[in-house]
Amino acid sequence: MSQKVKKAVVLVSGGLDSATVLAIAKQAGYQCFALSFDYGQRHRSELEAAAKVAEHLGANSHRTFVLDLAQFGGSALTDSSIEVPKHHEEGIPITYVPARNTVFLSIALAWAEVLGAYDIFIGVNAIDYSGYPDCRPEYIEAYQRMATLATKTGIEGHRIQISTPLLHLSKAEIIQRGVSLGLDYGLTLSCYDPSEQGLACGQCDSCRLRQEGFVEAGVNDPTKYVSH
Ligand code: ZN
Repeated sequence: MSQKVKKAVVLVSGGLDSATVLAIAKQAGYQCFALSFDYGQRHRSELEAAAKVAEHLGANSHRTFVLDLAQFGGSALTDSSIEVPKHHEEGIPITYVPARNTVFLSIALAWAEVLGAYDIFIGVNAIDYSGYPDCRPEYIEAYQRMATLATKTGIEGHRIQISTPLLHLSKAEIIQRGVSLGLDYGLTLSCYDPSEQGLACGQCDSCRLRQEGFVEAGVNDPTKYVSH
């Protein structure tokens, strides 16, 4: 009898963090089921990046779930009438998408239960991040408790673990980890406001964190930026 394969649902956005998480889950021996969301975000290019990343890292399958949060808007990422800020803002920025990780994790939880996967990987980070409430350790802990209570598999003794391998890493540490796993960050797109061609703006909060991370990590930044 061969050993049973461990399955994981991995949230893959097309950005640097979630690509690293997928590389980590693969290296840990999981059969990875990559999950992306077409949620009404400003640009298609991040979904194209997600598909490339899932293929590059050998995900078992890749699903793009359509769930149009732009129907509600309320964020610079889902409402084209709200500009993406090109400087760092204090407090929770307008790029926060209301309840996004709760919505995404809930879909991931449903898929995991169907697949018989006992792990969900998500690339939340509480060090070099934009200050979103649903990226904090206390949020993940609360979600974990809810997930165990909410599922048949949880009640029957197979709790679905929410894994957050990047939670306490700096952006530079995340990049070093990914490079050591052979990840090509040139495939990823982190920008909140890329051009139609998928070039990063180089000015938004996400671009800023990413640029600083490559510098601090001492790794050449493969990101393609628009020229200003
Ligand atoms: Zn940007």
